[in-house]
Amino acid sequence: MRAKSSTLVSVIPVAEKTGRCEIRPNSYVRKIESDAQGRTTGAVYFDANHREIFQRAKAVVLCANGAETARLLLLSKSKRFPDGLANSSGLVGKYLMWDNGGFASGSFEHPLNEYKSVQVTRVIHDYYRADPKRGFYGGGGIDARFDYYPASFALHGMPPDAPKWGAEYKKMLGTYFTHTMGLLAHTSSLAQMRNSISLDPDVKDSWGLPAIRVTFDYHPDDVATMQWMLTKQVEILEAAGAKKTWTTGISLPEMMPSRHLMGTCRMGDDPKQSVVDRHNRAHDVANLWIVDGSSFVTSARQQPTATIQALAYRAADFAGRNVRDAVKR
Ligand SMILES: Cc1cc2nc3c(=O)[nH]c(=O)nc-3n(C[C@H](O)[C@H](O)[C@H](O)COP(=O)(O)OP(=O)(O)OC[C@H]3O[C@@H](n4cnc5c(N)ncnc54)[C@H](O)[C@@H]3O)c2cc1C
Repeated sequence: MRAKSSTLVSVIPVAEKTGRCEIRPNSYVRKIESDAQGRTTGAVYFDANHREIFQRAKAVVLCANGAETARLLLLSKSKRFPDGLANSSGLVGKYLMWDNGGFASGSFEHPLNEYKSVQVTRVIHDYYRADPKRGFYGGGGIDARFDYYPASFALHGMPPDAPKWGAEYKKMLGTYFTHTMGLLAHTSSLAQMRNSISLDPDVKDSWGLPAIRVTFDYHPDDVATMQWMLTKQVEILEAAGAKKTWTTGISLPEMMPSRHLMGTCRMGDDPKQSVVDRHNRAHDVANLWIVDGSSFVTSARQQPTATIQALAYRAADFAGRNVRDAVKR
């Protein structure tokens, strides 16, 4: 049970043991407050009983992931930060990137029973680097997996030419469910300023706060990368002996990229071109750290969490050594 690399079983118990860490579950932060000098002073949140509470803080570390982090900064406007906290560059929420990639399936002569047990797969990186000879910029990894349950496979996993209902459909569903494996690509998502998280002017969440608005379109090279990668995914399945292969479409919204949220508070040395510095500290706010996938400047072309964790350890190390200065500044 404790083998999972969740923070709930890895670092949080260690932090709690110090006696200097208190978890307040089911709390919802609506604003990070700042003073006239441009420092954060704490966070306003709704607790589990829907009471609004201001928690004073000497420093704030924001880790709400690539969508909610940007939203919270945009919600945290003040006189000093009229466009949102830490947003003098205007780049909070901009350059949203995902993990792109299509899915290829192959059915085999003998049962594979891929649905059984836990997923233990790893990503091959043979095509990770961009190669000018391909005629577009992009690359990525390929991950062998079978993410389907019977119902989701029935709806989305069957080959496109399978019947959609009736006795033949039922028979084929039984066979394909046990004989199919899939290859998922994780491909480049180019950093484009127009792709963004912003505050929706009309839609509100259940607290009456502006909901997230996502604006996204692929770069043509992202599409070319996914298409090229799908040919490789099919080649691998065929080389492994698949009797039949098929692929998902990759156009929006049929294949909405998802899961890995990156880029919305990009890292850099120039405060005009980025939101956080190389230690994940906000350029504009000396006692605010933003530590999640939002600081990425290029998409990971694979699962990003190990890199997020590495950056978090690095940022924590720096913050630990500099927090006293940051609080005074
Ligand atoms: C379906 C799925 C599959 C994935 N598979 C993989 C994988 O195989 N490998 C991999 O590396 N990564 C995977 N990821 C990505 C991985 O989950 C994230 O990269 C990782 O969780 C990021 O960690 P984080 O702490 O930055 O953000 P999160 O884990 O998202 O944590 C952010 C936290 O902030 C909280 N929060 C947000 N807004 C507020 C607010 N206003 N007030 C209070 N709390 C708030 C959220 O509730 C959440 O608990 C997957 C993600 C999904 C959704």
